[in-house]
Amino acid sequence: MPKSDEQATNEGTRRAGSPEKVYMVSKVESAGEFPGRVRGGVIENSKPSLSPPSEPYHAAREPARTGIPAKNFIKDVLGRAAYATGLYAQQFRSKMVLTAFHRVNDWMAEDGITSSSARFEEFCRFFAEHFRVVPLSEQVAGCRAGRGMGGTLSISFDDGYVDNFEVAAPILRKLGLPATFFVATAFIGTDYAPPWDQKLSRRPGWMSWDQVRSLREQGFEIGAHTDNHVDLGQADADVIRAELAICREKLTRELGVTPTLFAYPFGGRSNISPASLELVRKAGFECCLSACGGVNPPVADPFHLNRINVNEWFATPHQLGFELVMRRV
Ligand SMILES: [Zn+2]
Repeated sequence: MPKSDEQATNEGTRRAGSPEKVYMVSKVESAGEFPGRVRGGVIENSKPSLSPPSEPYHAAREPARTGIPAKNFIKDVLGRAAYATGLYAQQFRSKMVLTAFHRVNDWMAEDGITSSSARFEEFCRFFAEHFRVVPLSEQVAGCRAGRGMGGTLSISFDDGYVDNFEVAAPILRKLGLPATFFVATAFIGTDYAPPWDQKLSRRPGWMSWDQVRSLREQGFEIGAHTDNHVDLGQADADVIRAELAICREKLTRELGVTPTLFAYPFGGRSNISPASLELVRKAGFECCLSACGGVNPPVADPFHLNRINVNEWFATPHQLGFELVMRRV
């Protein structure tokens, strides 16, 4: 059943486990920032507004926000309206969606790469309700065979944080959803703090190889993300070749199966170059994923797959739904 605006507002004012998060409902009502209105299923007078962060690691350096920004709250309401008017079904069928997460835990503040467990589950339930959630390898195989993958969505994680194993995987198992974990192989089993985590007072930690193996045994997919999480847009060809080969060799040795899925470290447009993409292809991988937003047509080039980084900017799943309908992610 579609929810009324009042219900939507009430739902928007709370979030499990975050009593300090008081959302800006009253400001929404008085700010005069309503970006459009829904009439006959068409959203009119939409103005360009806040854009989703294009590079997840840049967003991660910003201080954590408290509450839903007013514009994003309005988009949640519009998203629910788009669902009620049937726009979701119409729009989602024509898109192949890939999503990216990094950390899922309840001890860190949410940021560009951290989601609470409740929020992660909320998004997963939304995905399951509105898409056919499939393993990434199925989307890639579909693309390679020229099969339309519209209406499908895959869930993936980058880097190899231990909370992927401890928090995210049990939620995915509970919901019966597949996912792919892209790991930077040099991080696994270490206490290394990458540059974007060096200011944290407590380190989030990486999975061990046993945990990565366990994910695979649970039916999840493991993908490559280079060995040292290097910026392939900047690195020399020799470094890129070595990073790809070492990562591939470690995954093959530790898991007993050669990886075919690859996601670019950082994943922003500047971190991807045609030369590095060619090296990824030559290294034997079957796909290349960015993480700077964008959906894909039902049949897409597997070496140019866009992924949406699901971070705190998407205040609610319905805001993400709204952005998908408006083709702004
Ligand atoms: Zn990464």
